[in-house]
Amino acid sequence: MVLEGKSVFGGIAVGRLSVYHKKDNQVKRMKVTDTDAETARFMTAKEQAKEQLATFYEKALKEIGEVNAMIFEVHQMMLDDPDYIESITNMIATQEVNAEFAVATTGDNFSQMFAAMDDDYMRERAADVKDISNRVISILQGATHGGMTGDEPVILLADDLAPSETVQLDKSKVLSFVTRHGSTNSHTAILARTMNIPALIGVDFPEVAEPAGSAAVGDSQPVTLDGAFGIVDGYTGRLYVNPDEATLASYQAKKEEDEQKKRLLQELKGKENITLDGRKINIYANIGGVADVANALANDAGGIGLFRSEFLYLESEDYPTEEAQFSAYKAVAENMAGKKVIIRTLDIGADKQVGYFGLEKEENPAMGYRAIRICLDRKDIFKTQLRAIYRASYYGTISIMFPMIISVSEVKQIKQIIAEVKAELTEAGIPYKDCEIGVMIETPAAVMISDLLAKEVDFFSIGTNDLTQYTLAIDRQNPKLDSIYDAHHEAVLRMLQMVVDNGHKEGCWVGICGELGADLTLTEQFLRMGFDELSVSPSMILKVRDKVRNADLSK
Ligand code: PEP
Ligand code: MG
Repeated sequence: MVLEGKSVFGGIAVGRLSVYHKKDNQVKRMKVTDTDAETARFMTAKEQAKEQLATFYEKALKEIGEVNAMIFEVHQMMLDDPDYIESITNMIATQEVNAEFAVATTGDNFSQMFAAMDDDYMRERAADVKDISNRVISILQGATHGGMTGDEPVILLADDLAPSETVQLDKSKVLSFVTRHGSTNSHTAILARTMNIPALIGVDFPEVAEPAGSAAVGDSQPVTLDGAFGIVDGYTGRLYVNPDEATLASYQAKKEEDEQKKRLLQELKGKENITLDGRKINIYANIGGVADVANALANDAGGIGLFRSEFLYLESEDYPTEEAQFSAYKAVAENMAGKKVIIRTLDIGADKQVGYFGLEKEENPAMGYRAIRICLDRKDIFKTQLRAIYRASYYGTISIMFPMIISVSEVKQIKQIIAEVKAELTEAGIPYKDCEIGVMIETPAAVMISDLLAKEVDFFSIGTNDLTQYTLAIDRQNPKLDSIYDAHHEAVLRMLQMVVDNGHKEGCWVGICGELGADLTLTEQFLRMGFDELSVSPSMILKVRDKVRNADLSK
């Protein structure tokens, strides 16, 4: 049986299902004569409930952090809400009913009232007021709480889980949460993310499962979900109950793959990018904006090898101001805390069109008015960007590189403009640091004159995406040509070697920032070629590190 729901956290869980049994607070209306004593009984239970919540808060603080633990403080405050208390005590006094009944009725009324409100926050409180009321009723009834039994870790199925229920769970026994109700930001979803385990919501599971007929359980009698074998696919939002062997095997393999990724993260974070025979290489991250920095750092990037600055232009309605650019570059530099940040200057045109630039339609945009060609033509735009970069350089370690270079004269013009920008900043008393200057090698022309370019700059970063398209004369945008767009083509590989050799002869370091840099089948070859740096998408950093650490160039 396969049940569909919505995933709120990815991952695969394989194990027995356990249906969470809530303590059923069956409340009967009873007549009381001593209403004062009944009111006192309620007040005592309420205080006990607050004490319980205070211990839950402490436990949650350690397990899931302050922000998520706050809910228990909110619950304590709700229990002291004068309207809530008054409703209960009035009902006891005027209707002469037992405290359990007054609490249950008030809980229901308040919950319905919150649920009908036109405000997301208040609607969420509907479940909370039910939860606090159930807690007080349980105490009044002297009841114990529902939960899981057994030692084996399980996939936990529940209608929904209140914070006070999740906090009492033994987290080491939960492989995944699956709930009928709940929202993406429900407490259970947040908890699953914190615990790093898959979770599904909106799964309409039945109380009694269909005939199993599966090897996993081994009989064909109807079985209850409780104790059945299950798989949670947190990527597709599916719950498999008593899966067949083939499904189980394929999920075991996926899980293994996931675990390997997690292991890589655990084991390789903080480790050097060094081969078995001692050769080191820098592994940096490619980013499109400030928001990607967190991901780069989480994956242990040694620096930013390609900051595609054109996204700042693509995301705005008009030319981004010097101030807006400065604050973005500064934020990246500061967040990288002294690690190298290589900003690539504006690379628009071709596949990246920006309306307000008013660029004319071209027959061959990939070979047209783009990147550095625009910048050298429209110096005002270029100077604004360079001023922003130099101002930000003061706050970290920034390098600058230029896209689509085909000649030494372009580099000389760039250097002239940089000199003007620096002179203006000095004149205005604005602090800046000297930045390393590099060129992207993404045209065959740049490869062939890399010996000359190397005399002008500090580093080369090879843009293999464009270099492959221009070398093989294959439009990288044309899906029909995907099968012959061969980045392993001998022509491309020979070019890479040529660039490394020419760069090194003049003391330039050389890296790759195109997609090929993350091709794990070539990592060892890149090391042998002598590359100093590979800049890849954040999620590939540790995989490349793993390859590097297992390579032995002495063999
Ligand atoms: C490249 O061409 O390889 C590159 C890194 O630049 P982009 O993909 O942004 O053109
Ligand atoms: Mg490119």
